[in-house]
Amino acid sequence: MTVAKVIVDVPAKQTDRAFDYLIPEHLENIIQPGMRVIVPFGPRKVQGFVESIESDSPFHSLKKIIEPMDLVPVLNKELLLLADWLSGQTLCFKISALQAMLPPALKAKYQRKIKLAGRDGLHELSETLYSLFNGKEEVLWEEAIKTASLTSIQKEVKNGKLEVVYEVQSRANKKKAKHIYSLLSAEQLQAAADSLNKQANKQQQILEYFMENNEAVEQKQLLSLLKTSNSVVKGLIEKGVLAEKELEIYRDPYKERAFERTSPLLLKEEQQLAIEPILDTVNRNKHEVFLLYGVTGSGKTEVYLQSIDKVLKKGEEAIVLVPEIALTPQMVHRFKGRFGDKVAVMHSGLSVGEKYDEWRKIQRKEVQVVVGARSAIFAPFENLGIIIIDEEHEMTYKQEENPRYHAKEVAIKRGLTHQCPVILGSATPSLESFARAQKDVFTLLTLKKRMNDNPLPAVEIVDMREELREGNRSMFSRVLLEKLKDRIEKKQQTVLFLNKRGHSSFVMCRDCGYVVKCPNCEISLTYHQYNNQMKCHYCGHEEVTPSNCPECSSEHIRYFGTGTQKVEEELAKILPEASVIRMDVDTTSRKGAHEKLLKQFQDGHADILLGTQMIAKGLDFPKITLVGVLSADTMLHLPDFRSSEKTFQLLTQVSGRAGRHELEGEVIFQTYTPEHYSIELASQQDYDRFYHSEMMIRKSHAYPPYYYITLITVSHEQLMKVVSVTEQISQVVRQKLSPKTVVLGPVASPISRIKNRYRYQCLIKYKQEPNLKSVLKTVLDHYQGEISTNGLQISIDVNPYILM
Ligand code: ADP
Ligand code: ZN
Ligand code: ZN
Repeated sequence: MTVAKVIVDVPAKQTDRAFDYLIPEHLENIIQPGMRVIVPFGPRKVQGFVESIESDSPFHSLKKIIEPMDLVPVLNKELLLLADWLSGQTLCFKISALQAMLPPALKAKYQRKIKLAGRDGLHELSETLYSLFNGKEEVLWEEAIKTASLTSIQKEVKNGKLEVVYEVQSRANKKKAKHIYSLLSAEQLQAAADSLNKQANKQQQILEYFMENNEAVEQKQLLSLLKTSNSVVKGLIEKGVLAEKELEIYRDPYKERAFERTSPLLLKEEQQLAIEPILDTVNRNKHEVFLLYGVTGSGKTEVYLQSIDKVLKKGEEAIVLVPEIALTPQMVHRFKGRFGDKVAVMHSGLSVGEKYDEWRKIQRKEVQVVVGARSAIFAPFENLGIIIIDEEHEMTYKQEENPRYHAKEVAIKRGLTHQCPVILGSATPSLESFARAQKDVFTLLTLKKRMNDNPLPAVEIVDMREELREGNRSMFSRVLLEKLKDRIEKKQQTVLFLNKRGHSSFVMCRDCGYVVKCPNCEISLTYHQYNNQMKCHYCGHEEVTPSNCPECSSEHIRYFGTGTQKVEEELAKILPEASVIRMDVDTTSRKGAHEKLLKQFQDGHADILLGTQMIAKGLDFPKITLVGVLSADTMLHLPDFRSSEKTFQLLTQVSGRAGRHELEGEVIFQTYTPEHYSIELASQQDYDRFYHSEMMIRKSHAYPPYYYITLITVSHEQLMKVVSVTEQISQVVRQKLSPKTVVLGPVASPISRIKNRYRYQCLIKYKQEPNLKSVLKTVLDHYQGEISTNGLQISIDVNPYILM
């Protein structure tokens, strides 16, 4: 007998293991590990993943697999093992880990079809299959298996003649576009061209195009290719030469754009020194983690490109991760420019179908490089030769839902498996990575010089307390306003940056910049309007909001926060002549809006670009000569021990937006705490000193990288329930873990209620805690009953990045 061990799609503790199923005889040669199957589960039919195949089972009267969902495995052996590791690391169910590795099209409701993989293949198919297709390009799975045997179909899938495809059923996902095609043969077109008036130059060109290309072409593409207008095409349609029809377009979003090929640049000395150790590990098939620390514009990307080139020449593959927000056409261009069709691109802006297409290219070994956001780390390559994570300090690499993995950790795990290097690149490395490099766990490679030898833009810090003292109550300092006016006159552009995340309310004195902090945790206290109290969300410390500043006795102490909309209104009042583009979550929620607004700004349709985080990266426009940060310190006061680090990174990045080209740039930081080290050092772009100052603080308060942390968040509709469960968990954890480990809590989460659910948390700080995962697993198991019946939720985040 042949038995499949199947992980079923029922995410619960009782089902978080493989179940044995009998493989019916007719499927014996078809089913392989890594395929999805349909199995009976209780009264239901569910989906599952085949983990392995055995010749025996200790259980009796096994149920049978109903049918396979795939004919080739969707997960290879490495990824199956990785899923195991992932569920152990992040304490998620195995099924969640498996699903995280697949594109969403393979999770959603879809229609399965068998498709001809190439046009030529048709002739070589067996008679049954040939007649099945009978001129069609694809047939429904259900229809196919009525006519032909699964074995015969699978054989052709393996030969590359057929393919199983999964289509999301909603029509919205199919993109159609107007296409133009010729109704005439090449000779007839020639005749038509000859009879044309010699002045009809444009029509002539179009006819010539169709003489050479007899396939339908997307209208948009035709017009841009021949630089002509639609009226010319319309004219030919009216003459009965051309016709138009709606056709589905192939979903490769980058296919239509021509990418000018680039060749490797001669490396500068610093780059050469940095790339040598990388190439050495590639040559020797050795795993090593490199931290490539280089300021923006120092040539990191060129180092990535040339390393990848080497890997491809060895016949191996490369994964490149970039933050979602940085996956701009500019970035994609650089990789497509160097490696052309060898590159797949994956980011959240793609439709489900597009993502699936890109994934399929990897699986079918049609590409060797993937450039993508976080989840591209699971790209199903089998001969990985290098993994690159650009802007490694970015938080987007951490997934904030189950499985709560960090792409960096997955990268290192895969790097080990494949014995290949992992490169982490950044101008402002995370403290964790830099500390590891200091301890030689990672190898540090440094690029100190900018390619263009331009000096970094001059940063001026404006003390907003001073402004207030001088009677300026506006959110714009006098200097900033003056410079704004100057740029508008000179027709140069300004970027105004407002940190929206600083919306969480903290209490600050507008006279001296004093912010009330927790005496135990060194993080800002959060203001609660309902009882006028301030509270620490790590340890629970609470105090009444002072009516006078404890530092300077001023009465101007109150809670703080401004939104982009308010800034826009204010701008309209004080600079009515300025045209402003606002970019925030509200104005960019529609697909493509982000790119469109940026394009408008780039084309000079506005003087000022006002926005949040999302404008901090990737902007590289020659006319930006001024960058204003409206309140550099808002993020500083988030209830998060990483707030200084994030402030430093963000300010450094924002400053980099100015003066990247010929015109020199200026930067203004407005702040109430000009003396804060992260603001001061960001203004000097001095990462090294920032690192040392911040490390001292982390050490004295027992935060990462000196300690590891794990966050447990409990939520439920009833407050009492949440409090008592969190209390119990904290107690158990305290008892079971070593005495050196610090357990903070129970305490209300910074966001204490979401959608009518109360939230409490318990924060664990530890250096070494080998039992942690098993203790936490026991905790989860203990509450499993309540989790599945009365709506209790317990989330465990190992190495959390968001502590709200
Ligand atoms: P980073 O990734 O560190 O921001 P880039 O790789 O984008 O830096 O390099 C910045 C600019 O310098 C790019 O325009 C790039 O083409 C150019 N550049 C990089 N390396 C070289 C080189 N060795 N010679 C000449 N120009 C280079
Ligand atoms: Zn004060
Ligand atoms: Zn505290």
